[in-house]
Parts: sequence; C-alpha cells; structure tokens
Amino acid sequence: MYPRSFDYTAPSSLEEAYAALNEDSKVMAGGMSLLPLMKMRLFSPAVVVDIGRIGGLDQVTDGGDHIEIGALVRHATTASHDLVLAHAAALATAASLTGDVQVRNRGTTCGSLAHADVAADQPAGAIACGAVMIAASSGGTREIPAAEFFVDSLTSALRPDEVLTAIRMPKAGAGEASAYDKLGRRGGHSDYAVAGAAAWVRKSNGSIDAARVAITGVGTRPQLAEAVGEALVGTDGSEEAVKAAAERAADEITVLEDLYGSEEYKRHLAKVYAARAVRQALAAV
Ligand SMILES: Cc1cc2nc3c(=O)[nH]c(=O)nc-3n(C[C@H](O)[C@H](O)[C@H](O)COP(=O)(O)OP(=O)(O)OC[C@H]3O[C@@H](n4cnc5c(N)ncnc54)[C@H](O)[C@@H]3O)c2cc1C
Repeated sequence: MYPRSFDYTAPSSLEEAYAALNEDSKVMAGGMSLLPLMKMRLFSPAVVVDIGRIGGLDQVTDGGDHIEIGALVRHATTASHDLVLAHAAALATAASLTGDVQVRNRGTTCGSLAHADVAADQPAGAIACGAVMIAASSGGTREIPAAEFFVDSLTSALRPDEVLTAIRMPKAGAGEASAYDKLGRRGGHSDYAVAGAAAWVRKSNGSIDAARVAITGVGTRPQLAEAVGEALVGTDGSEEAVKAAAERAADEITVLEDLYGSEEYKRHLAKVYAARAVRQALAAV
C-alpha cells in the first residue's frame, strides 16, 4: 500500500527541525518503522521532518561520568561501540539483536526508543541501564527518565514538537554490569521480542546493593519490574536468590495475551528471561 501524500523537509539544523514540527508532523530518522507504518496508513503525517542531514547527532560521546548516544547513532554502532559495551552492555546487546543487518545499519537507537513498540529490544536496555532521554524543542530541553518514557503502545512521553536528541546513561562503576536476553518471535534471537528482559546489578562486598530489571514484549509497554530489583537487593546473587527474585517479574507489570502467546505463557517468559538477564549481568560483574 502507498502512504497518503505528505510533504517532506530535510532541515540542516535542529532549530529548523523544531520549527517544522507540530501535531501533524513526524520526525524521521532511519525510517525503518515510520515508513512501514505510513504505508499501512497507521501513521499519516502531513509533513515528514527528516533529521538525517543534521550534523553532530551521529556520535557516541564520553561525558565524564556518563555516555551519550546521539539521535542518529545506528543500532550497529550502539551494538559495537566500546563506550556502550563498557558502560551499557544491556543496550549494546539489545541493539545487536534488533532486526537484521539492513535494519541495524539504517535504524537508530533513539528512533527505536521514540517509536516505543511494545516488543522492541532497546527500551528494556535503556530502562535497566538508567538512561535519561534528552527531549528538545524550540521551547527548550527536558530530561525524561527511561522508566517514565514509555507510556503505551507506540506512545512515548515525547511531545509532537520534540526531537529526542540523545540519551544519556551513567558510566558503569566498580561492581556494576548489565545484560539483555530475549525470545525472538521467530525463535532464537532474531526479530521482535515475544518476551525479553534487561538487568543491571551492582555488587559490593559480596552482596547486591542495587538492581534494576526491565521487561519487554509482554504488555502495552516496556516496563521496570521493580519487585525483581527489590528482591535481589541484599542477597548474594546466588542461583536460589536469582530464581526467587525472577518469580516476581510479572508481579506489578501489565501482562497481556497477544498473537505470540497467552497471558500465562507471557508471565512464564517474563520470569525466565528476567532470571537469564540477571544471571548474565552477575556473571559480568
Ligand atoms: C524488518 C524489520 C525488523 C525489525 N526487527 C526489530 C527487532 O527485532 N527488534 C526491535 O526492537 N525493533 C525491530 N524493528 C524496528 C526498528 O528497528 C526500529 O523501530 C527502528 O529502527 C526505529 O529507528 P528509526 O531510526 O528507523 O526510526 P524511524 O522509523 O525513522 O522512526 C520511528 C518513530 O520514531 C520517531 N522518531 C525517530 N527518531 C526520533 C527522534 N530522534 N526524535 C523524535 N522522534 C523520533 C518517528 O517519528 C517515528 O514515530 C524492525 C524493523 C524492521 C523494518
């Protein structure tokens, strides 16, 4: 199907992009999700604002105590960049498991987050790694914690006039590590998550003193599974402790049946993948 007719603009600066954005427009980065949705006529913006020619947005940068991933950093770069691998391994793995080679070479990490698909990989990584979203418009810049950014299916906390210019994540300190694992829709790792989980843990003097676990694919949005993190804190991270904590993966999050599994199966997968992600993060500490 062809999309409805639309105007196209390719600004050369963020200021020009902000000026072009309104209720009837859509930002385009890699176009990997926007264009299919326009062809299916699920999105019919009057104007497509292509940010692909704006300079300076395609970098992963070292901010001292944090790293920043710019709006035009592709999945392939997120997956392989030394800074992301060192400080946000869960996000790097999630990017490496996003779609196929073409998608990873074209789509952007910020685009995947802004798209807010219920079964996307990188949102869980961003939540677990404590990312902050940098949203900017002509009115200024605001910071949105990743755990509050995903609102509903294909709905983020971004306003129509905002560009997600970057995401910022704290650097991993001593005793901290993260990991991501999922069941892809076609089995194994390829394609969107039937269910997936990202975990970040901090260990000190043999016990876990902080943990975050995020679940994707099972509800209407990627979500922080707070009960799992709380149950891990104070334990030694033994197999017994991990299993007991992961049992709580579906406690406080919305779980829904979909084309890929019943509610019961999704609850089961949330627990299985929470445990896997936590085990992998602990092994990397
Ligand atoms: C064949 C195929 C397989 C896929 N497999 C997977 C998979 O396994 N796992 C997975 O998670 N995803 C998968 N995807 C989805 C895809 O990887 C991402 O959704 C996509 O790459 C989003 O990034 P983009 O730069 O292409 O965004 P676009 O398609 O350009 O935009 C997507 C949405 O985000 C908005 N947007 C983009 N960038 C910004 C920004 N900087 N600021 C504000 N709004 C913005 C757009 O307005 C639009 O609403 C797949 C896609 C395809 C086509």
